[in-house]
Amino acid sequence: MKYIFVTGGVISSLGKGLTAASLGTLLESRGLKVVLQKFDPYLNVDPGTMNPYQHGEVYVLDDGAETDLDLGHYERFTNARLSRLNNLTSGQVYQNVLDKERRGVYLGKTVQVIPHVTGEIQNRIFEVTEQSKADVLITEIGGTTGDIEGLPFLEAIREFALDMGFLNAIFIHVTYVPYIRTAGELKTKPTQQSVAKLREIGITPNILICRCDRSLDKNLRQKISLFCNVPVEAVVEERDVEHSIYEVPLMLQHEHLDEIVCRLLNLQTQTSNLSHWQEIVRKIVAPRYKTRIAFVGKYIELQDAYKSVFEAITHGGIANDCGVDVVKIDAEDIEVEGAESVLNGMGGILVPGGFGARGVEGKIRAARFAREHKIPFLGLCLGMQVAAIEFARNALGLKDAHSTEFNPDTSHPVISLLDEQKKITKLGGTMRLGKQPCQIKKGTLAEKLYGAFLVHERHRHRYEFNNDYRKQFEDAGMVVSGTSPDDELVEIIELKNHPFFIACQFHPEFLSKPHKPHPLFCGFIAAAHEKLHGKRI
Ligand code: GLN
Repeated sequence: MKYIFVTGGVISSLGKGLTAASLGTLLESRGLKVVLQKFDPYLNVDPGTMNPYQHGEVYVLDDGAETDLDLGHYERFTNARLSRLNNLTSGQVYQNVLDKERRGVYLGKTVQVIPHVTGEIQNRIFEVTEQSKADVLITEIGGTTGDIEGLPFLEAIREFALDMGFLNAIFIHVTYVPYIRTAGELKTKPTQQSVAKLREIGITPNILICRCDRSLDKNLRQKISLFCNVPVEAVVEERDVEHSIYEVPLMLQHEHLDEIVCRLLNLQTQTSNLSHWQEIVRKIVAPRYKTRIAFVGKYIELQDAYKSVFEAITHGGIANDCGVDVVKIDAEDIEVEGAESVLNGMGGILVPGGFGARGVEGKIRAARFAREHKIPFLGLCLGMQVAAIEFARNALGLKDAHSTEFNPDTSHPVISLLDEQKKITKLGGTMRLGKQPCQIKKGTLAEKLYGAFLVHERHRHRYEFNNDYRKQFEDAGMVVSGTSPDDELVEIIELKNHPFFIACQFHPEFLSKPHKPHPLFCGFIAAAHEKLHGKRI
């Protein structure tokens, strides 16, 4: 096993996760088996209890782990299928250490950051090594070098790399080279200082990946090399991408990043071939077709809150060679301005997942508008729940129908808690989470899209469709086209007399990749194109 540690300097939001994921793409294309892991220095056990303003999307894995959104990049950019071992937070580290202390594992000793906390972090690297049987493990350290809370992680990887010996572990530092307009030049000082900070901790980076908005010329590369003690060919430029994050692997290949990594780790492999990746980027940059959809959410001003959904929409576009103009609509605007004025002229309407009452009425109105005006609709998780509430209210005449999440006293709780959820008092990690089987009904749109009768999808929700209303729904034309194999839980609903109206209780966006777009998104984008242009792709 070879180890690559990715740290970040100067500022956050440099796209370390994307960089690590793109390196994964490059190494995989050389025939290596790659696995990725993220260390997050905050004290939450996982991001599941943070709101999107704090953390962005919570990405869910097969095993139900609620993880950092960078794990989404890892899974989209590589073939690695990750588990809860692949995201470690300080909260988990301390929880484990304190649990051991109470059990008497350290009996007689003083429990300390070094070696007990660092040892716990190193254990996790060994666990992933053991479980993945990969050739290369890329470990990304969250946060910025110099943060107090990140220190135990940096100390842990320093010691770890030392133990691994020559040619087995390297450090990549992702840094920022800002362009200062008044000076008219790119500045290397922040990078120099952040590397100095790393070296103070005992880590000398082998490769510097310089985030910048324009090209680094030869002089600048030499200057960075000299002051940061990194060979000039290992000063790698990573410019802001023009069109799509999927350009990053191509850019880093052009800078020979994978070649340098393989040289430093003594890995003999074939050269990387990203021709399939080039085709993906081509379809994003210059698609043959175009459509426009409305995305009705409540954190729409936040780049990261719905990361995987936006990516999956792009993937659905790639599958159809169709560019998608995503019009982000605040659900509360629909409450104020009405659905008609906000949603007119859209090829499709997508309502993603969500929690809490704010904006729910707007989402319900969006679902109604899609149903009544025969506009293609895709509802995800809460998006399915609002579609059900809307149908109950306006097609079945159950006027105060609601989810008990939003109105516990409704006389028609079409969405409600299962008995097993009612008993739960703790909020962290207690939702219905992770991969679950779903059985697809014959002759439905779901069957047509999936081309299968049994699929597996990832969940993250507490509330469920209430079976007391199933017959009424089906009699009125809302088909239950996916259920749990025991038929107890409704997983997919769709409208019979509608060109494309489908909603699911799970999150298909977590399983979509650029080279393996999710069937529900592929179908939705194709339908949205047909709606807008009157012809099929
Ligand atoms: N709030 C809803 C529930 O808990 C939907 C969750 C979601 O959209 N992820 O069931």
